[in-house]
Amino acid sequence: MSDACASFDCDVLVIGAGPAGSACAILLARAGLDVLLCDRHEFPRDKVCGDGLIPDALQALARLGLADAVLARAAPASRLDCFAPRGGQLALPAQLAVLARRELDELLRQAAVDAGARWLAPARFEAPLLHADGRVAGARLRHGEAVRQARARWTVLATGADAKALEAAGVCRRRAPSGMALRGHVHCPAMAAHISGLQVVWHRALRGGYGWIFPGGGGRFNIGVGYMHGQGREQARGAPNLRELLAAFQQVHEPARALMQGGTPLGEPKGAPLRCSLAGTAFSRPGLLVAGEAAGSTYLFTGEGIGKAMESGLAAGEAIARQRHGGDAQVCAAYEAELLALKPRFAAYELANRFNERPWMVDFLVWRARRCPAVAARLAGVLDESQDPGRLASAQGLLRLLLPLG
Ligand SMILES: Cc1cc2nc3c(=O)[nH]c(=O)nc-3n(C[C@H](O)[C@H](O)[C@H](O)COP(=O)(O)OP(=O)(O)OC[C@H]3O[C@@H](n4cnc5c(N)ncnc54)[C@H](O)[C@@H]3O)c2cc1C
Repeated sequence: MSDACASFDCDVLVIGAGPAGSACAILLARAGLDVLLCDRHEFPRDKVCGDGLIPDALQALARLGLADAVLARAAPASRLDCFAPRGGQLALPAQLAVLARRELDELLRQAAVDAGARWLAPARFEAPLLHADGRVAGARLRHGEAVRQARARWTVLATGADAKALEAAGVCRRRAPSGMALRGHVHCPAMAAHISGLQVVWHRALRGGYGWIFPGGGGRFNIGVGYMHGQGREQARGAPNLRELLAAFQQVHEPARALMQGGTPLGEPKGAPLRCSLAGTAFSRPGLLVAGEAAGSTYLFTGEGIGKAMESGLAAGEAIARQRHGGDAQVCAAYEAELLALKPRFAAYELANRFNERPWMVDFLVWRARRCPAVAARLAGVLDESQDPGRLASAQGLLRLLLPLG
């Protein structure tokens, strides 16, 4: 793109090239729309994440026709290994994979460009362009030293968990994140034979969240801890220090200690906020849709969000492509209906966050599931989303999950 251009015109401006923005750009470019995809960073770039791809992410990648390309580079896994505070273990079968976000996001961005999207980076969203009636007409972008105007019929804001862009776009309803997480990459070939599933660990010392170890292949591991803001008394305790939590993780989980003490760190551990539960943001305003973690598309209990970010990006793209000749109200309503249909699933994860707040409940859950295959099968069904979310989004639903005939 020529530096001499002061402004751009396009059908759709997609801001943010994470999984949500790139999925949206791929769909729209394949539908024949003129798409400008931009990001504040040049790519490939790193993103603080656990790098874990759970079944919903693999399904969204399959919808994009990219599952094979991703799985060819990712480290596959067939189990989620859950560790309870008193040492109980439960292996949930699932199709899982681990791929560093630097690679995953570049693959998605490149697919958008291959589909015909134009690419602009580094280009930071500063403010929306507005018509006289307040409708969003594109955005003002800082592109290096220059300020550009990108005029668009529709703008999709997919800027992730940072609230600044949401505030600038006038869609932020809650500035504070839902939680925080910290991860490090470690090279430790000696542990490769010992950790083949994705490990998730609950313990009193990690109360309010959990720890994980995700094997990325080639002796490389993603290790981290996350903390979700709870309610009531839990919230009153305040947010813990994530580096202290990572140290505590090593004390209570031997593989974490072995990795951190026997392995070679690949850079400093880094933390980032999480926006969860499809809350805290207006999903749309005339001329603008908000997709991905910007809209709170990350699950509260687990902090997993790559899959739902892509789903929401696809939903935004579909709403714009299908209602191409419709009015703002139709596009916004079609998009919001898709997000609201996901709400019961998010509500179930919000409820399940009680396991983070009361880790001893995980002891019971693991004990129950080990004694009763139907309970273990239901938990696996939550993970691969074959379990009806409507049945889980209440305290009774959670109880039914634990009862053999529920
Ligand atoms: C420590 C940690 C571990 C996690 N582990 C997992 C996991 O294992 N599996 C999982 O599924 N999820 C995980 N998540 C959640 C996951 O990272 C997010 O749900 C996911 O990245 C959201 O995708 P997104 O496209 O909405 O946003 P992002 O991936 O955050 O992408 C947003 C993009 O917007 C760009 N951007 C931001 N502001 C601007 C601006 N003003 N102008 C232009 N561009 C901008 C950013 O540079 C970025 O490229 C984890 C999160 C954290 C913090």
